[in-house]
Amino acid sequence: MCGIFGYVGKENGAAETVLEGLKLLEYRGYDSWGIAVKQGKKLVYEKHVGKIGDAKVHLPKSILGIGHTRWATHGGVTEKNAHPHLDCTKTIAVVHNGIVENFQELKAELIEKGHKFISETDTEVIPHLVEENLKREGFSSSVRDAFNSLKGLNAVVVANAVSKEIVAAKTGSPLIAGIGGKELFVASDASAIVKHTNKVVFLEDNQMVILGEKLKLISLPKGQEIKPNIYALDWKFEDTKKGKYKHFLLKEIQEEPRVIENIALNYTVEINQLVKLIDQAFGTFMLGCGTASYAAIAGTYLFSRIAKKHVNFSIGSEFDYLEDYLTDKSLVIPISQSGETIDVVDPVAKAKKKGCKIAAIVNVLGSTLYRQADYKILLGAGQEKAVVSTKAFIAMISVLILAAYSLARKQTQGKNLLMKAAKNVREIFKDEFNKTLQKMADELKHKEHIYIIGRGLSYATALEATLKLKETACIHAEGFAGGELKHGVIALIEKGAPCIVFAPNDETYNDIISNAQEIKARGGFIIGVGPKNNTVFDRFLETADVGDATIIPQVVISQLLAYYLALKRGIKDPDKPRNLAKSVTVK
Ligand code: GLU
Repeated sequence: MCGIFGYVGKENGAAETVLEGLKLLEYRGYDSWGIAVKQGKKLVYEKHVGKIGDAKVHLPKSILGIGHTRWATHGGVTEKNAHPHLDCTKTIAVVHNGIVENFQELKAELIEKGHKFISETDTEVIPHLVEENLKREGFSSSVRDAFNSLKGLNAVVVANAVSKEIVAAKTGSPLIAGIGGKELFVASDASAIVKHTNKVVFLEDNQMVILGEKLKLISLPKGQEIKPNIYALDWKFEDTKKGKYKHFLLKEIQEEPRVIENIALNYTVEINQLVKLIDQAFGTFMLGCGTASYAAIAGTYLFSRIAKKHVNFSIGSEFDYLEDYLTDKSLVIPISQSGETIDVVDPVAKAKKKGCKIAAIVNVLGSTLYRQADYKILLGAGQEKAVVSTKAFIAMISVLILAAYSLARKQTQGKNLLMKAAKNVREIFKDEFNKTLQKMADELKHKEHIYIIGRGLSYATALEATLKLKETACIHAEGFAGGELKHGVIALIEKGAPCIVFAPNDETYNDIISNAQEIKARGGFIIGVGPKNNTVFDRFLETADVGDATIIPQVVISQLLAYYLALKRGIKDPDKPRNLAKSVTVK
């Protein structure tokens, strides 16, 4: 959950290159940041609390540097705790993604040996361990031995001002090395490297890379050199700019019609392959976390309704406890924007060991899940810079709708529905509708709680809408299945409590309207979303009736409402909500 960038080059541009890399990785963590560069035989650094934004650095010209944008796990958000962390001699600097689970024991031993600690982080043990090992061995083996003594899932990048090398090693968290003309790079994500080179090496777990005169790949724990698999990425550097939009979030929502149409028009081959795997499998399990988990829940309803097929779902972090019944005939479908979510990557690795087939639905080419999978569908949503996922969710839903229709041998019908949904989303973007949403955001901005209900497929919508309101507008929202109301939640409804009711034109309509009546009878303020107005609604947001694809306009409305509510509640940067990071690589 942090951005790491390292650079060794012939030019004197380390500080600027690392800074530029960090700016591209900031979505991964933005509590604080820092850069260290080699100056003579020492490392000098700058550290700052807060987001990088348009920051400049005042570091000397250098051929070697490392940097980090932090998402704190151990130790508060302070300058001292920001990475890089240095050893006592100031020749070794470390940036780190993950959690050193045994840092307390290691720290105690190092203090005993006379090492001085400055921060409260778990990370700081690493430079001191390397310093200790350097007393008896070379740099790369010092890092290897230090890394081998760490417990937990970690990615570590270590710079040495004396040997003029960077060594990086990983288990769990992602690391990608890049090979340029006279430069070498390492980063948490290839998108930060492609500006410089398209030749990359994706580090697997328990691998270490040495960036010096040239790149050397090493297998851990023992340290044998192995031949790197060099990929030539065929992507262009996407210098994603906000353009006319004030925030990436709004820009990315506006890109959704194109994302849906792309899937409707160009995914026949990929979808047919996925459907074949589902058809042949003895048990299919979709996995996801956060937003992707709600896409997966929607998937269970879609496959059931449309294709009469039982497809299971589990939250990624819970799948470990359900894996006992997996066999080599099972199919596991991890769904993830980043393809790096550790709570999905981990159970997928275990499922693979059991012989299951893995069909990943991911947005990032070359990501860990992409590489783990036997079969992959790339969402094609383009890079998401806002931390809150919008267009990737819509792409996941579009893929699942098309897959369910294809499984039912009704692919054309699925494509037509998606095209109609994209058209309706364009309607939602029109000024008049946006004014209505802004007015509603104004009405809701001082509320403390918002309740959201739906049934069937719209239960998944309710959960996703709830998450958007929580993470974007920092408002307490609670989403639940309409039928659950009377089993407890209704106790919370008091006069004026806003409740969003998803009421599509399907078999859930009558029952969800009854639930809306039950809330209204207790003073609730009802906001209906669907194709048909109803007297129970105090406010009404209209979608087209696009059958099972009505979930798409429903969610787009929720995304926009969350965005406007964030602005009305005085949130300055809805692209980077507090406490969140986009790619969740710690457990
Ligand atoms: N555990 C480390 C810290 O709290 C690294 C966190 C990160 O991945 O950003 O500083």
